[in-house]
Amino acid sequence: MNNNRTDVSALFPSDDGNAEQRNHFIDLIGQIVTGVDELKDPESVYLKGHKERGPHFYQELAGNSRIPVSGSPLHEVNEELLQLLQAHPYHTKYFLTNILPMASIPGVLGMIAAFMVNGNNLWDVYGPAGAEAEVKVVAMMSDLVGYNPAESGGYTTWGGQGAIFTGLRLAINKIDGSAAKKGVPHNLYAFCSEAAHYSLYKSMEAAGIGSNNLIKIRTYEDSSMDVDDLREQMENVIANGGVPVYIVATTGTTDAMGIDNLEHIHKMAESLSQKHGIHRPHIHADSALGGFFAFFNNYNFASNPLDIESDALTGLQAIQDKIRHLHFADSLCFDFQKLGQTPYSTSLFLVKRASDLKLVDLDPDETPYVGHRGYGQYHTSYTLECSRMASSISIYSALLAFGIEGYQRLLAQFVEVNTAIRALLIKEIPEAVIVNRLNPGIITLFRLYSDRRNGFPDEYEGSRTLAEIEADNKLNELLFEILGRDRGKMFFGDTKKHLYVPTADGKRIALYASKLFVISPHTKVTAAGEIVGYLKQKIAETYEEYNRIIAEESSHEKIYI
Ligand SMILES: *Cc1c(COP(=O)(O)O)cnc(C)c1O
Repeated sequence: MNNNRTDVSALFPSDDGNAEQRNHFIDLIGQIVTGVDELKDPESVYLKGHKERGPHFYQELAGNSRIPVSGSPLHEVNEELLQLLQAHPYHTKYFLTNILPMASIPGVLGMIAAFMVNGNNLWDVYGPAGAEAEVKVVAMMSDLVGYNPAESGGYTTWGGQGAIFTGLRLAINKIDGSAAKKGVPHNLYAFCSEAAHYSLYKSMEAAGIGSNNLIKIRTYEDSSMDVDDLREQMENVIANGGVPVYIVATTGTTDAMGIDNLEHIHKMAESLSQKHGIHRPHIHADSALGGFFAFFNNYNFASNPLDIESDALTGLQAIQDKIRHLHFADSLCFDFQKLGQTPYSTSLFLVKRASDLKLVDLDPDETPYVGHRGYGQYHTSYTLECSRMASSISIYSALLAFGIEGYQRLLAQFVEVNTAIRALLIKEIPEAVIVNRLNPGIITLFRLYSDRRNGFPDEYEGSRTLAEIEADNKLNELLFEILGRDRGKMFFGDTKKHLYVPTADGKRIALYASKLFVISPHTKVTAAGEIVGYLKQKIAETYEEYNRIIAEESSHEKIYI
């Protein structure tokens, strides 16, 4: 044999299970795991290593990157991969930025198991393991939220955003059976709160209805949808010849963890539809983030078997009291890549009635939905994807490994840490006003005011002017910058759209706030003191800098005059 012709099958796992190839593979995986371990520093939110990411970073990469003519040995390729991971954000105790979780070991193992056979979830004959896991996890999560697993359906898809888009497809086709063939009528309207994720905005654009037909509903102080405003807006639409088709109730907002009241929304939509003799709009619960608190649905809050700290327990009970209404939604979503602790992308879309999926299937004569067909008949022609990864296996793995109690423990820990940090913030830094105090959970939003007083009640009531609020937004933006500059130490988040409030001069404006998101399993209550101490110092710096800028501006004005 020609020496230049090495056997490329060596780049694949074996077909006979021989020990030599197995050990080679395990060694290579070991090299990656060890390599990452060597980059870890628990006191930093970045892995070790240095990356010069200047203004021409990507341009230079594009200039230098070409496919090598000859391949490299795998241990050398691994070295290159580990180079990529250098200076990467990592979920140490100071990683507090957003809903960006660590992938758990069972989550990663589930992925590896799926990759070992590389089935295609397009058809159960091509991907039987994924199909089996999918039917199981759909039933498990249906049962958890109070759907009937014998009637419900669902599948893994591309994100919470994909779930919202599919909900919209169902909504349109429920109202207008000819839409799938003739196209979408232009008098259809969708509704979500001002605090909702932008996914629905994108979906309206992508569905061809247009984002002008998305009506944003006012929120209360707790960032939940004002259901009276929803009713008024729906009445308006109907009065003008429009058809309300879709309501997205956010049940956990990504910024403030506001939870829309699904029971009220459902009741109102029912009665309004009856009054007008129209089809009730499809209700999707955007539970991508907050749905996981349904793990507390059967928790005994009175006996508190997990010994959860009392303030956190009260918070969890308040959350559960809203999340238990998830079953009122026609469809919903669990982003396992968020609080489910699995890698990207592992989102699970659920429908209360699997038969709804027939509306968006290619062949309307079939009953194609998962779990309602025999083996060999399960084609997912109703998904927007064609080929699909078997991410259900990772979800299954995590559900088995954590169990309900494991998720309860983890979520309780996040809430306990957040509760402890809030208490310390109030005590140590009263000028950092918590602006989502009504929402217990894992997120704290705090906002600074230039006079160091709590201006939030006035903002919410609408007694501050646009200029006053803008000035304070600027102060908060300065804090974003200062925290951002030093995020190698502690990594916080921020938002420029926490609550839209009316102003004294008749405008509406969103408030800026810094965000602290407890998301790492390595952030323990014992870290709260350091975190708040650090913030105290950064906030002091922010006020100094702000005063310096103001002084400079006023001296310029004097010169100018
Ligand atoms: C994250 C999130 C989304 C988007 O989910 P992806 O998985 O990123 O597509 C939508 N809605 C809410 C409330 C979210 O938190």
